[in-house]
Amino acid sequence: MAVQVKKVLRPPPQITSWRSGLAIIAGLWVTTRHLIANLFGFIRGRQDFTVYYPEQRFLHAPALRGMPVLVQMENGRERCVACGLCEWACPTSCICIFPAETDSEVERYPEIFDIDMTRCMFCGLCEEACPEEAIVMSRQIEISTYSRGGSLWHKEDLLVPESRLRTRIDFLRSQYGR
Ligand code: SF4
Ligand code: SF4
Repeated sequence: MAVQVKKVLRPPPQITSWRSGLAIIAGLWVTTRHLIANLFGFIRGRQDFTVYYPEQRFLHAPALRGMPVLVQMENGRERCVACGLCEWACPTSCICIFPAETDSEVERYPEIFDIDMTRCMFCGLCEEACPEEAIVMSRQIEISTYSRGGSLWHKEDLLVPESRLRTRIDFLRSQYGR
């Protein structure tokens, strides 16, 4: 079948209009204003416009959503029952689960639970889909690595003990009591 090309008629861009010129000047004015303010601030000894990372950290917004992590129960096991719903719900297909059988009351467990963080977009849909509250969005965002392989997080890396887990929801509750 021949490929059909549909031509769309669009008005030519009006880059020479006076409105475009005003927008450019307004943008330059904002940049210049900040430059001058920071320059004078620096001369007077003010340094609060620069964050000396990693010694200093940003105060992140309460609604910050970090990387997804797996909840580790008190007995050391994962809460996940390898139902695969998060894998199904993930829009970027970055979760990979291989279930296995177990003798305990939790019938199945994930023998392999990998998340490719290079593809994760921190959307939180896995958290929403999980019926066991076994995968939650943490406030961890410092996950850069030196290699592509380092971005593949395995179950052992993802497990966080329940007691140490401070999720976005907990943070919001502690800040706003809701
Ligand atoms: S946060 Fe979104 S993209 Fe990342 S693993 Fe969960 S569902 Fe997938
Ligand atoms: S994390 Fe939740 S949704 Fe994903 S496989 Fe485990 S129990 Fe199912």
